[in-house]
Amino acid sequence: MRILVCIKQVPGTAKVDVDEKTGVLKRDTAETKMNPFDLFAIEEGLKIREKYGGNVDVLTMGPSQAEAVLVEAVWMGADRGILLSDRNFAGADVAATSYTIVQGIRKMGDYDLIICGKQTTDGDTAQTGPEAAEFLQIEHISNVLEIERKEGGRLVVLENQDDCVRKLEIPLPCLITVEKNANTPRLPSLKRALTEKQIEIIKLELRDLPDTDTNHYGLTGSPTQVERIFPPEKKETKQMFEGNAGQIAAKFKEILTEQKFV
Ligand SMILES: Cc1cc2nc3c(=O)[nH]c(=O)nc-3n(C[C@H](O)[C@H](O)[C@H](O)COP(=O)(O)OP(=O)(O)OC[C@H]3O[C@@H](n4cnc5c(N)ncnc54)[C@H](O)[C@@H]3O)c2cc1C
Repeated sequence: MRILVCIKQVPGTAKVDVDEKTGVLKRDTAETKMNPFDLFAIEEGLKIREKYGGNVDVLTMGPSQAEAVLVEAVWMGADRGILLSDRNFAGADVAATSYTIVQGIRKMGDYDLIICGKQTTDGDTAQTGPEAAEFLQIEHISNVLEIERKEGGRLVVLENQDDCVRKLEIPLPCLITVEKNANTPRLPSLKRALTEKQIEIIKLELRDLPDTDTNHYGLTGSPTQVERIFPPEKKETKQMFEGNAGQIAAKFKEILTEQKFV
């Protein structure tokens, strides 16, 4: 089975500067890490390969330093990494991001199964996977806890619906987004890191993709435009109570009752 796992490098800290002009995060100066949700996606891909055979590629779209997450995924056990990086991809919203990812997928050939994390810890939209599936015109299921392969090129998956778990069947090729804690991701192997002679990372730029029209990528190709980014306004209405502990507690209870908290 040809499996592709999409992974993203995200800020490793909440302290990320924002470009005031464009409203875009300055990712190149921020501390980074692999999106934690993508570790579950990689683990699911590796488990399927171990059970049914095939290979697992990992793909990321991002700046050149995003290669680090591909290397980490290869140390976990992925066969090779694909880095989609080009100045024209910068400033992409979710639609442009998933379109770019799909162009990379088309360039690399047919995959039977594409796996994404449920969401990221920065953009947090949980839309990239489903939008990529729509561009590819393949079926998809989100929030998946478990994947099994059936005879005849179909998968049986358990989908988390929060209040219940549904058992669903889906034909291949398809796209699955994996729920948090669906499995226990393995650690990157030190042995693999030390003995791996050459890690295969395929680098793709705009000119390598089937669609080379710059209008379809990055900020220009994004239907969403950020008008302004600002920290939420704090509504701090302070009230000071005076008196002894009993009087303050009574006053406090009165306010809570008035505002229907108790
Ligand atoms: C107008 C606008 C401008 C933006 N400009 C920038 C910018 O300049 N630079 C920037 O980095 N972000 C930018 N963003 C944010 C960017 O669009 C999102 O980070 C991106 O679309 C992914 O969405 P998400 O983080 O919500 O991922 P989700 O949809 O929550 O992620 C779900 C899963 O999709 C996969 N996935 C998500 N992103 C990637 C990726 N890049 N590569 C591979 N797999 C992925 C992963 O498996 C992930 O677990 C911008 C957003 C907007 C609206």
